[in-house]
Amino acid sequence: MSTAFITHADCLKHDMGAGHPEQPARLTAIEDQLIASGVDGYLQRYEAPLATDEQLALVHPMEYVHAIREAAPESGRVQLDPDTAMNPHTLNAALRGVGAAVLAVDLVFEKKIQNAFCSVRPPGHHACTARPMGFCIFNNVAVAARHAMRAHGIGRVAIIDFDVHHGNGTEEIFEGDPSVLMASTFQHPFYPYSGTEMPASNMVNVPLPAGAGTKQLHEAVTRHWIPALDEFRPELVVFSAGFDAHAEDDMAMLQFKDADYRWVTEQVKAVADRHAKGRIVSMLEGGYALSALGRSVVQHLRVLAGLN
Ligand SMILES: [Zn+2]
Repeated sequence: MSTAFITHADCLKHDMGAGHPEQPARLTAIEDQLIASGVDGYLQRYEAPLATDEQLALVHPMEYVHAIREAAPESGRVQLDPDTAMNPHTLNAALRGVGAAVLAVDLVFEKKIQNAFCSVRPPGHHACTARPMGFCIFNNVAVAARHAMRAHGIGRVAIIDFDVHHGNGTEEIFEGDPSVLMASTFQHPFYPYSGTEMPASNMVNVPLPAGAGTKQLHEAVTRHWIPALDEFRPELVVFSAGFDAHAEDDMAMLQFKDADYRWVTEQVKAVADRHAKGRIVSMLEGGYALSALGRSVVQHLRVLAGLN
């Protein structure tokens, strides 16, 4: 069975302005590296549908969804927070991101594919139940997890977040929820300055100091993530796949290399193979150094697609 690559042209039209690091060129950088590496030829491409209100309501209150719909401008740009803006295309881009997550889950459970990567933006892991934040509007991975439980009858989902920023939105949504185990690494202290104050027992948070790299990632995964994941026995693994901990990414100060994304994906894929029939849905989060982003996604996808 193959690996799906899910995206949509609407995700290229969401534009927060010249100089904003969360830019459309991120997705074209991924496409360029897929072609240059030859990995593109091994992927099954799907267009992301628009999410429905019912799907958004798995995570977000309808008042919040309506407020976002109403905030969408007909022209120009509106700021949702100091880092997050909407242009006339942002609403559809965000709905495609959630729609991609739902489609990916359905394709995996219908056994049409083995796993999926969703190359979408805006990202989602800072989005709280009723608050946009840090480039994020709707929480894509949270909808994926809830949809898998609701539509496909599973009881345990693991969320793996290796973005350099703590996934505070995902934590807020699932803290204390025994059906979800969230395992993450993130730079600390760093934006959004969360994840370290007595996290709930279903949060396996491993904060890393500035300058940490391959060695600290290996320790975090082997000592903390894997034992917790093996005990939890997820029936689906969802990645919050952010690539901004890369050494070339000057958004932050971790020092991950291309090969680290391959390694961490291999470790987590082995967990999915042991417990979840190999079911993996991966959602793009951060990653702002364009070449490093594209190359790192290729490493991640090589493992998902079973390529050498
Ligand atoms: Zn990030």
